[in-house]
Amino acid sequence: MPKLIQISDCHIDDQALAMEADTQANLKKIIAQISSQKFDALLISGDLTHQGTAPSYNRLKQILAPIDAPIYVIGGNHDNITQLEKTFKQNTFNSFKLKNWEIVSIDSVQLDKTSGRVTQGALLKLDQTLEASNADHIMVVLHHPIVPMNSTWDDALSLENPQDLFKVLDKHSKIRIVVFGHAHEAAHFSNKQFDIVSCPSTALQYNQETRIGFNEFNLQNGGNINWQTQWI
Ligand SMILES: [Zn+2]
Repeated sequence: MPKLIQISDCHIDDQALAMEADTQANLKKIIAQISSQKFDALLISGDLTHQGTAPSYNRLKQILAPIDAPIYVIGGNHDNITQLEKTFKQNTFNSFKLKNWEIVSIDSVQLDKTSGRVTQGALLKLDQTLEASNADHIMVVLHHPIVPMNSTWDDALSLENPQDLFKVLDKHSKIRIVVFGHAHEAAHFSNKQFDIVSCPSTALQYNQETRIGFNEFNLQNGGNINWQTQWI
């Protein structure tokens, strides 16, 4: 059964501190914990860096060096896609497979805006990827939350048009789970068809949680998922 680890919102910067947290030291702790486990892929769901500078992506690459599983990344609102693709060209993806599962990404980032939006073009591409998938089960990943967080998080900073995304997701019965980051808090929601899981930040949480963490998913053959948040 494949095991996928998701980390999010690392906010690596040119200097150690970002948002008053030592984001580099924090990510190193997370990577030390992760690399002591056996797993099949590491997924990073955006805001790899705090300001999108070239040195911060290089720094991130160094911190990720102990990981020997494949690494897959998507951008967040703090990322600079040009810089990200320079350093992580091999790691960006539209979709990838783990046994009979497929992990599919959708871009939700708007230029110079904190909130997200999925464009008609991105939705069409998602729909086509989902339609063409020969996997039995699908996980969808994006940067922005697609549901109200029911917390102190300002939902106006999440995905602006979740109804457009749900129109596509609801057409595809193989989708078992949708995961994202951005809100810097761990949370779980269910809808009729699939689970919806928010990944905590490796840098710092925006709620009262003082730990840093990541999510791990055991993707079962039959479509069930054992998942949990690990905190440090
Ligand atoms: Zn973000």
